[in-house]
Amino acid sequence: MNSFGAFLKRKFGGRTQRVSIDAGFTCPNVDGAVARGGCNFCDNRSFSPSRRVRLRQVSEQLQSGMKSVRDRYDKVASFIAYFQPATNTYAPVEQLQEVFELALSLDDQVVGLAIGTRPDCVPESVLSMIEQLASDNYVSVEYGMQTIHDEGLVWMNRAHNHADMVNAMDRSRGRGFECCAHVILGIPGESHAMMMQTAAEIGVLGFDAVKIHNLYAVKGTPLGQQVIDGEIKMMERDDYVQTVVDFLERIPPEVVVERISGDAPRNFLIEPLWCLEKSKLRIEIEAQFRRRGTMQGSHFVEPDVAPANRPIPDDLTPLSIRKQIETRGRLPVLKIQD
Ligand code: SF4
Repeated sequence: MNSFGAFLKRKFGGRTQRVSIDAGFTCPNVDGAVARGGCNFCDNRSFSPSRRVRLRQVSEQLQSGMKSVRDRYDKVASFIAYFQPATNTYAPVEQLQEVFELALSLDDQVVGLAIGTRPDCVPESVLSMIEQLASDNYVSVEYGMQTIHDEGLVWMNRAHNHADMVNAMDRSRGRGFECCAHVILGIPGESHAMMMQTAAEIGVLGFDAVKIHNLYAVKGTPLGQQVIDGEIKMMERDDYVQTVVDFLERIPPEVVVERISGDAPRNFLIEPLWCLEKSKLRIEIEAQFRRRGTMQGSHFVEPDVAPANRPIPDDLTPLSIRKQIETRGRLPVLKIQD
């Protein structure tokens, strides 16, 4: 498979590590702009709409993250500032730009940004600002697509549907930044065929990269409680290995595979415990490819319309989110001081 580590090495000429930054954002699925409570798998208790972040804290997180990586590895060529928790495009565009530019200017070794967000939270103003940053820097926008099936999105309480993802991708593609799809396998009620339909959509929408996760349950979440109560069963390990390989066989060969399983710290994770054995899982997935004599993209079918030829639609960002981002001015959810 076209692995992320090898891609970064080719691109930046050596080991490149992501450093996670919590810039203090909340999420429209938590503060009531589209829903409350958040996704059923997400421990969003810390994404309080009233929390504050100082620019200095963003620099400090990045600096201390880089120091830990340098202490651990002999040679690190570069770093990517990874805006990871919550929805990292959910603030007025000037505030977003301020935070992103700060990260990019902090150290010569910071070569880019990764920005985790929701597909319904990228109005044109935000995409244009990201496009501008991407003209000089590597930028990856990581979209929580999860599945193409709206039933699964409802089950997760995502409070967006797949049409939002299609709209976001049709407005994001070809603007100079990388688009990465976050996908979850093992959503209750999804058959193997349904997961393969999600795989096919990676090529249809023209994603540059994919992050595949097994569904996992952590403490303090509605999903975690359902697993404890025996209402929900997680995917079995062997089933997951087969399904990931089937999935990868159906995506374009050039798509960068940023992740093939997901986990959480042992003391938070409820199930499945097998996802803690990341390296073993990777070895099994690679062995499964060898056994089958296939590789990423072996069963990829070109879409009827090439992604580049898909029409660019109007911006369908929900009004409730637009208001928060564009018209309310400085949000109480992100008050940058300093
Ligand atoms: S959209 Fe993301 S940040 Fe918001 S509740 Fe869901 S997983 Fe958490």
